[in-house]
Amino acid sequence: MNSDDELDRRRERAARNESLFRQVNERIDELAQKFQLREETLSCVCECADPMCVERIEISHHEYERVRKHPEEFIIRPGHEVSQVEEVVHRETRWIVVRKVGVAATVAAELQESADGD
Ligand SMILES: [Zn+2]
Repeated sequence: MNSDDELDRRRERAARNESLFRQVNERIDELAQKFQLREETLSCVCECADPMCVERIEISHHEYERVRKHPEEFIIRPGHEVSQVEEVVHRETRWIVVRKVGVAATVAAELQESADGD
């Protein structure tokens, strides 16, 4: 098997998982806005590439929305990053921000567009 193809597939799969978690987190954020909990900490789910990961991340709304502006960036727990599909662009003690690389970035952007479109 061509290893570039294999890498592309891993990246695509990782981006799909993470975009799904992102949709969950955006819904949590919407509900928080609706109930005017914006000053409170948001408890979002880890947006890492592992579909079985259910860890929560405590993050302020302000910080979450700053990351969410970039469709190819995701908030995950430290240590959950996969160097082949993403690079760490920001580190905090309890969470880090990763940016998709290669085909994963393209897939993440496309999924974000289709999520915004409905
Ligand atoms: Zn995780």
